[in-house]
Amino acid sequence: MIDRDYSGLRVAVLGSTGSVGTQALDVIRELGCKVVFLSARSNAELLSCQTSEFLPEAVCLTYPKKRDGFVFPKIGNTELFLGEKAHVNCIKALDVDVIIHAVSGLSGIPSALEASKKGVRLAVANKEAIITLGDLILDNIKKSGGVLIPVDSEHSAIFQCLLTNRGDLSQIRKLILTASGGPFFGYTAEMLANVTPAMALAHPTWKMGPKITVDSSTLMNKGFEIIEAVRLFGVDESAVEVVVHRQSIIHSMVEYIDSTVIAQLGSPDMRAPILYSLTYPERVGSPVAPLDLIGISKLTFDKPDDNVFPLLKTARRAIREGGVAPATLISADEAAVASFLEGTISFDKIPIVVEKTMDKASNDRDISVENVFSAVSEADRIAKQIITEL
Ligand code: NDP
Ligand code: MG
Repeated sequence: MIDRDYSGLRVAVLGSTGSVGTQALDVIRELGCKVVFLSARSNAELLSCQTSEFLPEAVCLTYPKKRDGFVFPKIGNTELFLGEKAHVNCIKALDVDVIIHAVSGLSGIPSALEASKKGVRLAVANKEAIITLGDLILDNIKKSGGVLIPVDSEHSAIFQCLLTNRGDLSQIRKLILTASGGPFFGYTAEMLANVTPAMALAHPTWKMGPKITVDSSTLMNKGFEIIEAVRLFGVDESAVEVVVHRQSIIHSMVEYIDSTVIAQLGSPDMRAPILYSLTYPERVGSPVAPLDLIGISKLTFDKPDDNVFPLLKTARRAIREGGVAPATLISADEAAVASFLEGTISFDKIPIVVEKTMDKASNDRDISVENVFSAVSEADRIAKQIITEL
């Protein structure tokens, strides 16, 4: 099916045991690229299976579990590294063409920063690094002669729509992000009070890791994606519109000043943007199912309900406040979602925890790595305190 030779393409997958990471390896298996490095947080079993299959030069577990009885076996010539520092050092030492960054959460920041300095293609799925330190990452990429290709499906779509205009941002009127609406589309605020973790973890169209699945159900994920779009494409927050599109067939759109709208369509399958991030600017045969437009028959569009899903507004507030406010937003949401999944708070309290944390956190800091990390710990502390008081 693949009509070009990618066997010489040297690829690293950070967060290879997760939802995006495993799908990236599915695509890499099809393309026949050379995997040189894999990493995960603590899933030693799956990482060792991946090591046996792809025989990378090195692998790393950043937080190996001490007492689960599994000993990572010696496999071929693959070197095993342990710990966060070793992870960053491995990235620094990599001889690689593409780094797929699919680590989840704020803990992906150090590896994203290191990867951005290498002058290679950085295929970024991790949105937390872009939201908090996107300008620095883009600056590193520019200085080192690298290129950033978004993997998040909406931003991959916008990236592709912009190619029709040679990436000339001055001719954009707005970016239109599509949102599936999540499993609670059409719910009232009262109905959300009874949502359980199992209900929030069942996304109608996308199969993803647990954190982003809950964020999709609160629309926090779409709020994050507004900020991600602002960072990646350099537009104002007011030029990013969100439209609920239940079918997840249009992955996002760009409206130009002549009122022409360019949309990118395809089956909702993360392997499509992952594949494109590896083969850009080429397109190759793909395992992704072609669109059956007659079968789909209609595409619908709705206005998101900001009152039932207030986190969309909170995300806009964070980007307007600027500084480290987006880091505060992410950290507060991580604490709130973790408490919801543990059963400590109800679903409808997630936005309350996030909004109250934003109110209390100090945001007098310029964006720097140090300030982002101190905002993250401050927000985590404030959010956890608010949770105990609810
Ligand atoms: P998962 O929770 O499924 O996977 C996360 C991966 O990151 C796992 O391999 C995990 O290892 C690893 N990991 C976590 N922390 C660290 C760390 N400190 N160092 C190294 N590896 C680490 O998440 P997803 O794949 O769903 O999402 C990954 C990122 O991509 C997120 O930022 C998400 O927002 C974004 N994204 C995801 C999409 C999706 O469809 N899933 C779509 C668009 C964006 P372990 O298994 O050992 O815990
Ligand atoms: Mg997305």
